[in-house]
Amino acid sequence: MIRAAEAEWRQLGQGAQWRFSNLATAVKQIHAGAARTLPCGAGDNYVSADAHGEFFACHRTVGDERFHFGAHPDGARRREFLAARQVDLQEPCRSCWARYLCGGGCHAEVAAHDRAGCDFIRGWLEYCLGFYDRVSRARPRLLASKRAEAPHFENVVEV
Ligand code: SF4
Repeated sequence: MIRAAEAEWRQLGQGAQWRFSNLATAVKQIHAGAARTLPCGAGDNYVSADAHGEFFACHRTVGDERFHFGAHPDGARRREFLAARQVDLQEPCRSCWARYLCGGGCHAEVAAHDRAGCDFIRGWLEYCLGFYDRVSRARPRLLASKRAEAPHFENVVEV
């Protein structure tokens, strides 16, 4: 991902638009000063359904009872699922410096592998912070345009 981001840096320097969405999303979030309280929109601004019309948090969790919301996606199980997964309630996320950029890790990954990927996530986000610093110093026009196009994070609060 860092090699891809360095390629993006070179392309941006030649006038290209953002193409690496993982990087652009992180940079936009940092620039907006926004805090992510959940890792993604699963169960929040989208759900997945199985062939029988039963709803689950996302496509990766279909068939897993831990992520089953029942036949009505707006029911209490979905709200309880989201309330329980706020990053400030998770361990060890509560004391992780990256928590408001990460949001607590992919629900499906955490269920399958606990938080084995945290060093990878923190390493990537540390790189993104450095990338943001480079952009803000050398190519602030990219941030001006990105602020204008600031994404709507369903689970992000301004701080
Ligand atoms: S990097 Fe790991 S510990 Fe830190 S917020 Fe993300 S999931 Fe939690």
